[in-house]
Amino acid sequence: MLYLYNSITRKKEKFVSLEDKKVKMYVCGITPYDTTHLGHAFTYVSFDVLFRYLKYIGYEVIYTQNVTDIDDDILRKAKEEKRNWQELGGFWTKKFLLDMKSLNVLPPTNYVKATDSIAKIVEIVKLLIDKKFAYERSGNVYFEVSKFRSYGKLSGFNKKQMLIIAKERGGNPDDPLKKDPLDFLLWQKSKKDEPFWNSPWGKGRPGWHIECSAMIKNYLGDQIDIHGGGRDLVFPHHESEIAQSERFTGKKPFVKFWLHTAMVLYQGEKMAKSLGNLVMISDLLKRNTANEIRWLLLSHRYRKPWEFEEEEFEKTKEKFSTVLKALKDVKETNKTSSLNMIKFSSIMDDDLDTPQALTFLVNLAKEILKKNSNEGNEDKTKLKFTLLKCLLVLGFKL
Ligand code: ZN
Repeated sequence: MLYLYNSITRKKEKFVSLEDKKVKMYVCGITPYDTTHLGHAFTYVSFDVLFRYLKYIGYEVIYTQNVTDIDDDILRKAKEEKRNWQELGGFWTKKFLLDMKSLNVLPPTNYVKATDSIAKIVEIVKLLIDKKFAYERSGNVYFEVSKFRSYGKLSGFNKKQMLIIAKERGGNPDDPLKKDPLDFLLWQKSKKDEPFWNSPWGKGRPGWHIECSAMIKNYLGDQIDIHGGGRDLVFPHHESEIAQSERFTGKKPFVKFWLHTAMVLYQGEKMAKSLGNLVMISDLLKRNTANEIRWLLLSHRYRKPWEFEEEEFEKTKEKFSTVLKALKDVKETNKTSSLNMIKFSSIMDDDLDTPQALTFLVNLAKEILKKNSNEGNEDKTKLKFTLLKCLLVLGFKL
C-alpha cells in the first residue's frame, strides 16, 4: 500500500485514487526563457519515478504537464534579446525536452502549452466574474481573495506572510487597481508591444495561475488525484489554483494529494537563475552518464532540500558500477525473487524513499557478486533479473 506525504494535510497518507485503478496527475512545467538546471531535473525525475511507480503497481496514469509559454519573464527576455517571444519559448522548450529525454524521463500523457488553452481560460474567468468571485478593473481581471475563506490552507501562511512572499514572487500587492493587495490576476491587459488575445475585457493575456486550472479542467477534469511541482510554487501559485478552481467547479477538493519537491542548493544558496549559480544538465552529461545523474538525484529524498556537490559523483559512480558489474550477463527469466521485490516495494511505498531503495539495490548487487558462479546458478539468475527489474522501475536505462 502506497503512502505519500500530502503537503496540504502535512502528513503521510494512504494513497487511494478517486477512480479505481486510475490516477489523474498534473505537474507544473517550465517557463521556457532560459536553460534547464539540476533543480528542474530533480523535480521532473522525481515525478517521473512517481509516474513509473504508479504504473508498476497497476494504475493507469494520465499525466499532464504544462509549458508556461506566455509570461512576464518570457516577454522580458525576448525584449532583451530582441527575439520573437514564441521563437524564444519554442527554443528553450525544445532544449528542456532534450534534457529530459537524455535523462530518460518519460513524456507525460499530455504536454500542453498555456497559449493552447486561452478559450478555456476566458470561459473560467467569465464565470468567476458572473459568480462575483472576480472583478474587472481597466482591462485587468482579479480574483477576489476575500471570497475564498480558506485561501492560505495549502501554504499555512497568514496574511502578513502571504503579502511578503507575493511581493517577492511577482504578485504585485501594490497594484492600486486591486480591492485587496492579495487579490491576484486572472487576466491582464496587454501593453502596446505585447502579444494579446481578444476577450470580453479587451485585448489581453492570461495571468500566471489560471493556465494550470484551465489545463487541468481541459485534460483531467474537475478533481484530480495528484498535483505536483517545486516547493516554491506552493504560494502563491498553487494556493491560487485551489481558490479559482474550487470556485469555478464548485467541487472540492480540487486536488486530493499535493506533492512538492524540495529545492536544490548549490554553493550555499538555492539554485536559481537570478543568483546565477546554475548547474546545467548538458554540462553534467559531459562528465557523467545519464544513469549516474539519475542515481545522484534519486539518492536524495524528493521533499528534503539538499546541496549539490560535484564530488558526490565519485560515490555515485562507484555504486552504479557495482550494480552494473552484478548485472553482467543478466538474462530474462520468468522468475524473480519475490522476497526482494516485496522489500523494494515496501521501501518505495513509504513515500517513495528512493535513497533507501538505492541502498537496498547496492546491497542486492553485492550479494549477487559474492555468489560463486559454480553454485546456486538458478538463484543468481533470479537475483540478477530482480535487480534489473527494480532499476527499470526507477527509470534507469539498461
Ligand atoms: Zn502550475
